Parts: sequence; structure tokens; C-alpha cells
Amino acid sequence: MTSRTARHEQWMRRALAVAASTPLETAALDVPVGAVVLDSDGRELAAARNEREAGADPTAHAEVLALRAAAADRGEWRLAGCTLVVTLEPCPMCAGAAWAAQVARVVYGAADLKAWCESQLARHEQYVVEHLEDMPEVRDWVLPS
Ligand SMILES: [Zn+2]
Repeated sequence: MTSRTARHEQWMRRALAVAASTPLETAALDVPVGAVVLDSDGRELAAARNEREAGADPTAHAEVLALRAAAADRGEWRLAGCTLVVTLEPCPMCAGAAWAAQVARVVYGAADLKAWCESQLARHEQYVVEHLEDMPEVRDWVLPS
């Protein structure tokens, strides 16, 4: 049986491969971030990389694109039980999208002090404790480079 940490590292390797697939012509523009969404059985629903510059879309972060594709795969916006794996700590928009999609957990590689996902999730969690449902579990520093 695969341990939880080994699964997270396996998923992070997949997200790193997605990040590395950024086309060379956009690599200099788009930060090479990769994201993968897995269902509760660990089956990959979707994968995406940053396309903000390539698509001239301010919301085209890897996490948002992967969450959208996973929701399309499932045919519903709720991604309960799913895991979002991303190579870089999500920004506030992506942390909010993960929360809105009701993912069970967020696994990220390198911390991004500029993005402060954990504090965003903590802020959401405080709100959730008072008003809403459970927050996703966060696993950080998986395969930091
Ligand atoms: Zn983002």
C-alpha cells in the first residue's frame, strides 16, 4: 500500500511534469506552475499549467484551469473529496477557488510568501467555523526544489 506521503510526492511529480510542459515560446512569460486534480480514489480528473500570459487571461492560473476542467469532467462544480495538487503555493484567488469547489485538500510544493495561501485558507477557515462547512486540508512543501 502506498503511504500518504508517497502518494503526495507521486502527484507532485505529475504536477511538476505539467509545469515543465509549458511551451518554450510562453515559458519566458508564464510562470511554469502545474496543477492536478485527483478524485477521492487518486484518479486524475484534470491537469493544467499557467496560461495567464499565453491566453491574456488574468484568471488563467494552473489551479483555476485544473479545477474548471475537473468540474467539467465530473459534470458538477462540487469537487468534494478531491485533491488539488499544485507546484507553487496557491494565490488568494486560487485558494478561494479551491475552497469554493469544496476540495478536500490542497497539496503544494514550494511556498510563495507573496501568495500566502495558508493565511487565506486560515482566514476562510475562521469564517467557515462561524458560517460554513469544512475547509480543505493543506499539505505544504511536498517535493520542494
Ligand atoms: Zn492563483
